[in-house]
Amino acid sequence: MVVEERMTQHNTTPTLDYDVIVIGAGISGLYQLYKLRELGLRVRVFEAGTGVGGTWYWNRYPGARFDSESYSYAFSFSKELLDEWDWTEHFSPQPQTEKYLNYMTDKFDLRRDIQFTARVTSAHYDDTNKSWTLTLENGSRHTCRFMITAVGPLSAPTLPKFEGMDDFQGISHHTGLWPKEPVNFEGKRVGIIGTGATAVQIIQEIAKTAGHLTVFQRRPNWCKPLHNREISPEEMQEIKKTYPDIFERCQETLSCFMHTPDPRKTLEVPEAEREAFWEKLYDTPGFGFWIGNFSDILTDRAANAAVSDFVARKIRQRVKDPATAELLIPTDHGFGTRRVPQETFYYEAYNRPNVELVSILNHPIERITPTGIKTRDQEFDFDIIIYATGFDAITGSFDRIDIRGVNGESLKAKWRQSLETYLGIQIAGFPNMFMVMGPHCVFGNIPRSVEYSVEWVTDLIAHMNDRNLTRVEADPAAMEAWNRFVLEKSEGLLTNEIDSWMTGINQNVEGKQTRIVARFAGSAPDYREHCDAVAAAGYRELMLV
Ligand code: NAP
Repeated sequence: MVVEERMTQHNTTPTLDYDVIVIGAGISGLYQLYKLRELGLRVRVFEAGTGVGGTWYWNRYPGARFDSESYSYAFSFSKELLDEWDWTEHFSPQPQTEKYLNYMTDKFDLRRDIQFTARVTSAHYDDTNKSWTLTLENGSRHTCRFMITAVGPLSAPTLPKFEGMDDFQGISHHTGLWPKEPVNFEGKRVGIIGTGATAVQIIQEIAKTAGHLTVFQRRPNWCKPLHNREISPEEMQEIKKTYPDIFERCQETLSCFMHTPDPRKTLEVPEAEREAFWEKLYDTPGFGFWIGNFSDILTDRAANAAVSDFVARKIRQRVKDPATAELLIPTDHGFGTRRVPQETFYYEAYNRPNVELVSILNHPIERITPTGIKTRDQEFDFDIIIYATGFDAITGSFDRIDIRGVNGESLKAKWRQSLETYLGIQIAGFPNMFMVMGPHCVFGNIPRSVEYSVEWVTDLIAHMNDRNLTRVEADPAAMEAWNRFVLEKSEGLLTNEIDSWMTGINQNVEGKQTRIVARFAGSAPDYREHCDAVAAAGYRELMLV
């Protein structure tokens, strides 16, 4: 076999445990393992969970589902996999997605190289051996030539810091660490903190069965209807025929979704025509209203105000109590400048007699009590408290691992000073380390970005193996140029003026209160063009030895 020859010819790491260690068995880690196997390398994946799936393994809260079209959000690399797998809903629920990722894992026999319940606590680079040593929570140590982080941008859940949280005697869960056993909400008194995309999904779901649900909202978000529906077997057959078109389209769009902006400028379109356009888009499934809207809604303040006013009117129509409706309308940011949660009768949930909204801006939470939550003005008793309080995003999953590069430099400390990467894939001072979905990547349709990054990294490793090269590091000057490019591409975006995980803000984490440019805000084609050029030039921007 060609692959085996390649391995024996270029096995440059006989004294190391593995050629490559991948951290994480989510979408990124699974595909990375698949691709490295093609090179015939000795690969080990360490996964903290007991199963594959990453985000789709941990976030098993009721109502969790894709809010991108299932068939645009799956792996595209294998026609066989595409042909074999049938999606049953346009926006796949978490159990089906987890099943899909398990199916993919077994189809390609990936499980045998994955070690579960294996949380990596540290990763130290040794420049003498040009190798990484990873330590797991159980104390075991493992060496490799290349380390690939596939840790996900939203995988370090964060809890608020209220006094008394440990005293609560009922059940409490963070949505990102949801238990495998079902939680019964039937007739229960439930309190939930948070109103982000996660909270919206779970609120609309458990409102149906909870005895009483109290939502503690700090800042509301602009949400839009998802319009999910089932996919019949016949429809799925039709979708399968269009896979090549779907993936081609995703490659061409700004953030790899199926939707493209309307080139017109909002205020140049006559008002009646604009309203009709928005009415139609509001009724369209998925992210169309956000990403397929007029081209200037996220750069022009007046355009953004106009679209925000349209959505505010929708909220007022849908929520019966005017005071509750006003509380649900954001006043501190415009539509689309934070990640838009997609909902299914979320606003209508507040019309139910068993659902109550408490603004903690008006009624701050003072503490968690043994029996519930105490705000400045009232005490609430609960059987269950849900923390839908989000993640230490983008860099948080790196910060949890003590990553040290040349001369023991700490990545966490380095990034606290300034978040810098090279192509979102490497970092000067951290040779032989690659990131899939690290900071400064395109975060839109994640699997599309994952496939690109994994293939880019795999090609670079193949390039090195073919030439018996054993050390690769981002050149500081090239890294500086890349970071300037990232900043340039984010200029003028209203999104950057708003506190959210996309701008690196998390009030629950020390040192994450200053806005940064944490993702590549140019287009995905721009990003790929840049990375392709580096590869086509023989990786000259990288220091290869
Ligand atoms: P999030 O958007 O960061 O929302 C966290 C929520 O918790 C916010 O409402 C926040 O309020 C609130 N919160 C945090 N700390 C608090 C505190 N100390 N006191 C009171 N409230 C507090 O997190 P998320 O909802 O988990 O979503 C994160 C991202 O995951 C999404 O934006 C999306 O990209 C992804 N996601 C995707 C899907 C999907 O694809 N279907 C589903 C869910 C999530 P403030 O707004 O005031 O900070």
